[in-house]
Amino acid sequence: MRLKIQARAKINWTLDVVGVLPNGYHDLDMLMQSVTLCDQMTIEDAPEKKLFVQSGGTYVPADENNLVLKAAAALEQAAGVVRGAKITLRKYIPVAAGMGGGSSDAAAALVGLNKLWGLGLSEDELEAIGLTVGADVPFCIRGGLQRAQGVGERLTPLALKRPLYLAAFQPCRGLSTKEVFTSLHEDGIRPEDRPDNEGAQAALERGDVVALGRCLGNVLEPVSRRMRPELDRAIRAIEATGACGARMTGSGSAVFGVYRHAGACRRAVQVLSEEYPMCRMMRTAECGVVVEEV
Ligand code: ATP
Repeated sequence: MRLKIQARAKINWTLDVVGVLPNGYHDLDMLMQSVTLCDQMTIEDAPEKKLFVQSGGTYVPADENNLVLKAAAALEQAAGVVRGAKITLRKYIPVAAGMGGGSSDAAAALVGLNKLWGLGLSEDELEAIGLTVGADVPFCIRGGLQRAQGVGERLTPLALKRPLYLAAFQPCRGLSTKEVFTSLHEDGIRPEDRPDNEGAQAALERGDVVALGRCLGNVLEPVSRRMRPELDRAIRAIEATGACGARMTGSGSAVFGVYRHAGACRRAVQVLSEEYPMCRMMRTAECGVVVEEV
């Protein structure tokens, strides 16, 4: 069997930290969204596990530190099997960007290997295994639009009224999620930096992109902006193209803008590409992993 898999990126419409969990992790409240930008993976039968990574110059480990191999090992352990597979990963999602690149690859590996190896695990079981690999993996398995709480594992599916169009790019070096959260601890959160999660959810459910733009927010943005001043300029550049809202996603360092319609987004991407050649147009997507047997 040979499987071709799309591992889709995510953006955070919102990201709020609402407390601390008993285990010491941050208690989050986020609106997460799959988008059409994706990494491409192929998985096929092989006697041993082997991963090949093409990442166009950006460093991505191809050894056991890659989340794909971590996911494969977690799956084998949970299912009580030892199997092989040849996995090829082509990276298109920017790395250390807050777009869930590694997490979506882990999600793709779990869904793909479950099929290749005929394990018959349910989506819920895969999500539970995914959570041991990374907090964003359960979301990447489910995909679409979700309210994500806890460390990101408590997911409530939401219905997006209509597809929305985004421009996104990483204007500077990546950011480590751990470092950003550590700095947040030192800086604290100002009330005005909090997103309006209820307002954003209602706007997404009724397809009101203008209201959505007003409700977006990410409490990590001030910290990341301080660590990477280029983010300020990038967000201002997106706003200048007439976006309804422009924000950083996750812990950064990618930023996105959301537009009224596809045409406005296409024109904005043309303009932004002059300064930021990596700028891409994308659409909201209804699922996180797409598997095709080839
Ligand atoms: P998230 O949005 O889930 O917080 P991120 O976009 O901030 O994730 P990733 O792109 O997943 O961050 O990468 C973070 C680090 O993880 C990288 O610097 C890289 O060394 C390591 N890594 C392990 N596996 C992968 C993978 N499959 N793709 C990208 N990076 C990976």
